[in-house]
Amino acid sequence: MYSDQDIAGRTEKLVEECRDFLDDQVRFRSAQWDAGLALVHFPEGYGGLGGTRGQQGVVDEVLRSHGVRYEDLRINPIGIGMGAPTVLAYGSDELKDKHLKRIFTGEDIWCQLFSEPTHGSDVAGIPSRAVRDGDEWVVNGQKVWTTLAHVSSFGMLLVRTNPEVPKHKGLSYFVLDMHAPGVEVRPLFQMTGEAEFNEVFLTDVRIPDSDRLGAEGEGWRVATTTLMNERVALAGGPAPRGSGPIADLVRVWEERRDQLDGAERAVWRDRVAQLWLEAEVGRLTNARAKESARGGNPGPEGSVAKLASAELNQAIQSAIVDLEGAGGMLHEPGYPMTRSSESMKSRTGRFLRSRANTIEGGTSEIMRNILGERMLGLPGDIRVDKDVPWSEIPK
Ligand SMILES: Cc1cc2nc3c(=O)[nH]c(=O)nc-3n(C[C@H](O)[C@H](O)[C@H](O)COP(=O)(O)OP(=O)(O)OC[C@H]3O[C@@H](n4cnc5c(N)ncnc54)[C@H](O)[C@@H]3O)c2cc1C
Repeated sequence: MYSDQDIAGRTEKLVEECRDFLDDQVRFRSAQWDAGLALVHFPEGYGGLGGTRGQQGVVDEVLRSHGVRYEDLRINPIGIGMGAPTVLAYGSDELKDKHLKRIFTGEDIWCQLFSEPTHGSDVAGIPSRAVRDGDEWVVNGQKVWTTLAHVSSFGMLLVRTNPEVPKHKGLSYFVLDMHAPGVEVRPLFQMTGEAEFNEVFLTDVRIPDSDRLGAEGEGWRVATTTLMNERVALAGGPAPRGSGPIADLVRVWEERRDQLDGAERAVWRDRVAQLWLEAEVGRLTNARAKESARGGNPGPEGSVAKLASAELNQAIQSAIVDLEGAGGMLHEPGYPMTRSSESMKSRTGRFLRSRANTIEGGTSEIMRNILGERMLGLPGDIRVDKDVPWSEIPK
């Protein structure tokens, strides 16, 4: 028989153990991975149950409602949203075992090394080169706009391995160890005051061939998988009705509406209602697209969702600043000028950061090209260099 004191002591210890477990991000997320509740649309044994992306929303909602506060977006957005699906689709078993779980737990942060100073939208034309040397590749070149490179352990690297074939056919894709000799990361400061992204210089960096994803020369196909997943990640996960940016607008509207005169109030009510409707339509469309996307990788619908959510977020953030009146032009007191994304907690930070939404992950013009060509069947963009060996394209 236990005394009341024993039972109280044991209960206290149990509560403490539960708290420790919930507070230990790596331990908790590791168990979530093993249970197949990490990325439900991944296969069993790799953090999932072979379900749909929509089902992940159900899991996330249950976890959130029980006070679990580990958000993929804060922990390792590029690794979880883009790196993991690419490794799953193209990695050897060794690479999957080495990386997937650590990406999810956040033990390894990942970044994406695609854009270069001369090539962003036309990333297939990048000049950075990898030359084979036995079982290794030697890489030289420069990347830019590399979000989180300064805290990353690994990067998804797209480079040219064959300049003598058309641009899309001469690329290969590697997992780069960001601490390898010859990798230099320099910060780029943004108008938000942060420096969440960087320039990355690669000088005689050696990468083992076993760290290649996909076949040699198939880098474009692998990169497309990353980009399609990026667009879905940027479009955001399933969220409750009226939450996120639109909730901020409604809050500011409720605070300000009594200070507006009748005509102004009517005009503003229309603008707020219109944006609320657009947010709701976007939310439902996203939820439907995610529900139908089984384990495989997303198609052009992800680009359409990204286009719509980027433009909507800019419209909402602009409306918030407009509604604040002259005060909307000021930074709030204590505005953080740090490298982290702390500024996203403030109205000014969210407004300034939203300018990047229509550029990052592919500009809105490029998303419209994808929508026109791949969903509406319109004639393709003019691409005069498509079939020319890369080395012969005028630079
Ligand atoms: C916040 C942020 C984070 C980023 N993070 C990363 C990252 O982590 N890793 C990474 O690799 N990159 C990253 N990028 C880079 C991003 O992918 C590129 O900025 C983007 O693809 C556009 O390329 P660019 O800047 O070279 O512009 P450009 O391609 O030079 O485009 C300039 C203008 O021309 C237009 N344009 C170009 N081609 C066409 C066309 N065919 N038809 C119609 N219009 C066209 C564009 O829409 C744009 O308005 C990030 C960018 C931002 C803003």
